Amino acid sequence: MKDDELKEMAGLCAKCGTCRAVCTLYPHRRTENSAARGKVVILESALSGEDKDTAAVQEAMADCLLCGRCERECPNLVLYEELVMKARAALADEVGVPAWKSILFGKVMPRDGRMRALRKAGAAAARLLLKKVPSGSGLHYRFPAEFLTGGRTIPQLPAKGFIESLGKGEAASGDVLLFVGCVFDHFYPEVGRAAYETVKASGREVAVFREAACCGLPALVSGDRESALENIGANLRRLREAAPETIVFPCGSCLLMFKRNIPSLFKEGHPLHEDAAFVAERATDYASFILDSGVVDRLPEPPPAERPGEIGYHDSCHLTGTLGKGPEARRVLERAVGDAFAEMKGADLCCGYGGTFNIRDYPTSSKIGENKVKVAASGGTKVIAAGCSGCVLQMRDMAARVEPSMRVVHIAELVRRALARAK
Ligand code: SF4
Ligand code: SF4
Repeated sequence: MKDDELKEMAGLCAKCGTCRAVCTLYPHRRTENSAARGKVVILESALSGEDKDTAAVQEAMADCLLCGRCERECPNLVLYEELVMKARAALADEVGVPAWKSILFGKVMPRDGRMRALRKAGAAAARLLLKKVPSGSGLHYRFPAEFLTGGRTIPQLPAKGFIESLGKGEAASGDVLLFVGCVFDHFYPEVGRAAYETVKASGREVAVFREAACCGLPALVSGDRESALENIGANLRRLREAAPETIVFPCGSCLLMFKRNIPSLFKEGHPLHEDAAFVAERATDYASFILDSGVVDRLPEPPPAERPGEIGYHDSCHLTGTLGKGPEARRVLERAVGDAFAEMKGADLCCGYGGTFNIRDYPTSSKIGENKVKVAASGGTKVIAAGCSGCVLQMRDMAARVEPSMRVVHIAELVRRALARAK
């Protein structure tokens, strides 16, 4: 394995071990290889030609949630997330992308028609399973697909996604563009709808980005650069063509892609460099838009809460940790739900989703996620609000496992409820 850029990036690591103390995975693995320092050592050994077992190196690089805690604490500013993503791509070039990842992210997710077909098949399977579940139990369904086995609970898949449910000509044009993301379009269309309606409450013309492909993050973190680039290129071209003033992202991970990951892929001189910069400049998180566009000022004064402090906010690794967008969501919540909101115990604990990590090692992902939900509940939280699709997906699953009365919502759903009070 040879790669000068990787060598240079890894060379910044002083092997101080600060990262191990904050690593989300280390307490569960208790091996040096699970933390950033161990991975850097393995990578350096592969880059120097000492370690020739490329498949084992690929395995070590894959075993990470990409939560970014290590990077945020690193005194030597090692760009760990970028390093791992680049290493995964380089390794995939040598030994290929694991088959399940390539099928899911390369062949299914980028193509909207196939995603829709998958969702419909899932909905049919869920309907069959529903017969065995007591009606009104509110339980999620076990998803029978091969890559979603192992005790997962998933939502009852809707027959129609959010974008599919839009009327002809509805949300067709506007200087504000809503990038809903795969999960809030296909899995939780009610979140897509809540985001759309509350963004529209700004009084600005809002278009929904109907032609969106997957943001490319799952493929990119899997090392499947080809599929990722296909999606990214398509999105950038279409977004540039639409030329919106602002692009609102209800999902923090999609936002991270457009704000940070995509621009870092296309350096100056690359044909997509300007398009990436154009989109990154206009991309904003949902809560910041709600604040800056004045929607929050239109929310009526919240009534005194029946159960003060029952709503907490989860700091997503990508949205709060990497992009620093935590205070905005809290300000929105304070106005939307008043004293029902309070700081949540363990707000900054990772939910354990980690994108493909959840599929790769569901038992460990669950341990991390179950702990997150239990800690929140132990502090009195009954409703967790979040701003990232993976976190919502994961924490709903984890709540169903260990705290069935815990609700997990997207912040837009609470804003929509507050807006309804104004009518
Ligand atoms: S904290 Fe940074 S410099 Fe220290 S071992 Fe970890 S990656 Fe290397
Ligand atoms: S990204 Fe998270 S899980 Fe991965 S090494 Fe860093 S702290 Fe550990």
